[in-house]
Amino acid sequence: MALVFAALAMALSSAPARAQNGLSNPPLDLCVKRAVKGDVARQLFAATARFDCRTRQTSFGPGDFWVIAPVLPKWSSPSMPAAVRTSATTQDRSILYGRYADGVIIALPMAKHEISRHLQLGAIVEQVLPARATPLVQLLWKIEGSGNPRGIVVGAQITEPGESATLNLFMAALYSAFGGLCVALILHNLAMWRALRHPFQLIYCLMVASLAVYALSSSGALAWIWPDLPDLVRVKINYLMLGVSASLALLFARAYFEPEVCAGWLSPVIMLVCGALIASAVMFALLVPWQAFMLQRIFVMSFIGVVALVPPILWRAWTTRSRYFWVVTIAWAAPIIFAGLRVANGLNFINWSFWVDNSTIMAMTSEALLSSFAISYRVRLLSRERDDARVRELAARALADTDPLTGLLNRRSFLARAIGQTGDHVLLIADLDHFKAVNETIGHDGGDEVLRVFARALRASIPAEGLVARIGGEEFAVLLPANRAIDAATILDRLRAERMPFDLTVTASIGASTGPLATDIDWKKLYRRADRALFAAKSEGRDRVRYDLAIAA
Ligand code: GH3
Ligand code: MG
Ligand code: MG
Repeated sequence: MALVFAALAMALSSAPARAQNGLSNPPLDLCVKRAVKGDVARQLFAATARFDCRTRQTSFGPGDFWVIAPVLPKWSSPSMPAAVRTSATTQDRSILYGRYADGVIIALPMAKHEISRHLQLGAIVEQVLPARATPLVQLLWKIEGSGNPRGIVVGAQITEPGESATLNLFMAALYSAFGGLCVALILHNLAMWRALRHPFQLIYCLMVASLAVYALSSSGALAWIWPDLPDLVRVKINYLMLGVSASLALLFARAYFEPEVCAGWLSPVIMLVCGALIASAVMFALLVPWQAFMLQRIFVMSFIGVVALVPPILWRAWTTRSRYFWVVTIAWAAPIIFAGLRVANGLNFINWSFWVDNSTIMAMTSEALLSSFAISYRVRLLSRERDDARVRELAARALADTDPLTGLLNRRSFLARAIGQTGDHVLLIADLDHFKAVNETIGHDGGDEVLRVFARALRASIPAEGLVARIGGEEFAVLLPANRAIDAATILDRLRAERMPFDLTVTASIGASTGPLATDIDWKKLYRRADRALFAAKSEGRDRVRYDLAIAA
């Protein structure tokens, strides 16, 4: 997104790239003349009146031109060589003429393929005019085949080579810091993506990587690494990376917000704008220098689509109460502010400052950093949500598995856990005696309390690995591995010792059986035998345990 605004600022701002404004001398005032047959440099130096000093350079369109700096700032050190710095622009060939006070003119020609060798950090072309006994008084450029997308001679400044070297060092430190930051952010977010697999993390890494390549190429550093690189190829890489970065910024926003933010028409429009960006960047890269002027305009137009998408995306985020509205707004605010500063500077509302000068890289830095914070914020909310959901799920499952009155397992979860166990098990079915009478004596609520007391006593008398469940109204089941079985009579003893509501005496009968439990059929047999034993206990007078020792048929 930073790039979107930086590019917009560049398109809107009439000022040239200001990267060299850190120098003590201000940019030179320039005048333009269309080149015609018979023009001679020596005569043109004397004929400044034939130059147009009012019309904007971009209004001349592409072509061949003469550009003159009729007056140079007071040159404090005539004994030093003069470094002439201009912003790199599209052209076929140029000759820089320097006229000294004694009338001597020195010419420095530069063919298209030589631009890269003169390139300084900040995409500045630097040519050095030698020191002579008399001061340098005028500069004149002959520019052939100017594409003139931003001007013919852009941001011309004159300085001592020493000052130029200091500025280069400073720019190198700035770009190195940005490069290091990009690497750290990419590695960190890639590692997070490996663990969490949110698509927006990967889009973010790609976006930062393309920002880094854009910075490398647009600063001119690429020409240092690769000196034979034609400047036009470098410019094409700029356009491609700018288009790719802006598309990825949009895709990042789409993936980062909750799905409802970009639902409906917004999502296809985002894809359409991304398509237009990539298409216009690719067209520029493939076709320029053919129709360079028009293709550059088309490219800038596709960025208007990007900028136009920002308000509806934020509006949707606001109206759908996105939890990420503020994070994204703050992350996008920094590039907007930097772009605003740049435009204000370009329109001469504010003076040069470090922040304005390096607004593109500052915008990219803040964008990369703040988006990374936004990702951390989102990951934190997502993991908190997941933790909450897990807790809720466990609670829901526990609720579904238990009998609400007694807190014991219910019949369904008891069966789910019991059937399939290996080895012989002892099953006890305990049924309260004359429970109907208990209800009639102390009421239904009292009966409930009796059930709760009985359940607690039952659970307390069974080892922890045993399953205890309420499988019917006043019927309970206990399952224990055969080798851990307890004497069921102790359960009845314990029950008798429990204090019941209204000091009522409550007893129970237990039927017991032993056998395998591997399948459903095993369970049915085991249960039938325990039930038969329970019936025997009831028939024999209740308040006792009976075992079904018969081998199941
Ligand atoms: P027996 O000794 O033969 O088991 O006699 P009983 O009265 O206990 O047996 P029966 O099966 O005829 O009656 C069971 C009673 O348990 C009937 C029903 O009202 C009562 N009951 C079932 N579920 C609940 C419950 O959740 N709360 C209360 N308070 N009573 C229940
Ligand atoms: Mg009963
Ligand atoms: Mg019963």
